[in-house]
Amino acid sequence: MTDIPQDHPRYHSLMTRHRIVSGVDKGITSQEGLIAQGRGEAFDYLIGEETLPSARAAEYAAAATILLAERPVISVNGNAAALVPAELVQLSDITGAPLEVNLFYRTGERVLKIIEHLQAHGAGQVLGGQPDAAIPGLSSQRCKVCRSGIYSADVVFVPLEDGDRCEALVGMGKKVVAVDLNPLSRTAQCATISIVDNVVRAVPNMVGMVMELKGRDAGYLHGIVKDFNNKRGLADVMDFISRHLSEIN
Ligand code: ATP
Ligand code: MG
Repeated sequence: MTDIPQDHPRYHSLMTRHRIVSGVDKGITSQEGLIAQGRGEAFDYLIGEETLPSARAAEYAAAATILLAERPVISVNGNAAALVPAELVQLSDITGAPLEVNLFYRTGERVLKIIEHLQAHGAGQVLGGQPDAAIPGLSSQRCKVCRSGIYSADVVFVPLEDGDRCEALVGMGKKVVAVDLNPLSRTAQCATISIVDNVVRAVPNMVGMVMELKGRDAGYLHGIVKDFNNKRGLADVMDFISRHLSEIN
């Protein structure tokens, strides 16, 4: 609970901060996660703290891509677990994509706490507790994955990703769907689908889109994916930011 008044002009942003801080207090988010959130917030300010049309198009293409996948997996880190645990569980339920905990600042204890946190929000089995495979070419702790999960996935949805691992996953031939507020990050630049939006908006949006698209045939879903152009989406965000800034001046 917080004493942030609901009519505070930055209510949503402050509540999001509060969730990250309480994630740190619970031992599910790393202290470095606070800094990552801060970097994200700065970009959120620049896009007006709203889902841009190009982000909505990316979320739609992402929903279709996950529905078309044979072995989709949702990769969860400490920030995503603190911000959207129930929504990630819901996305996993409606797509059949298992959740796998994958951390940059990995400790066995933190992985376990995140698994328990997701289960407290309704998750069944969560992967990542006993990694038995490694992503080639990565020296960070994030190389540790489950053979039945991320290692053999064809599509990996990573709400918050590190650039190195994004490149390594793409290098393994996987489609990577990333959410990253920074359109210039290595993650956004190398993902197959880059959603430049706050995870607190992107994941609930995707839940709604998956519900809408679930009954559609593969041809319809392929059409959505084909119409989406990631490079153009990123360019649109940058265009929006520069126009937005020049209008303020
Ligand atoms: P990269 O490794 O991709 O080059 P980076 O090293 O700058 O990026 P990291 O520290 O690896 O960034 O991860 C933080 C990234 O996550 C930042 O790019 C930030 O914009 C993004 N981010 C942080 N919080 C959120 C959020 N709530 N929603 C969406 N994106 C976020
Ligand atoms: Mg990084």
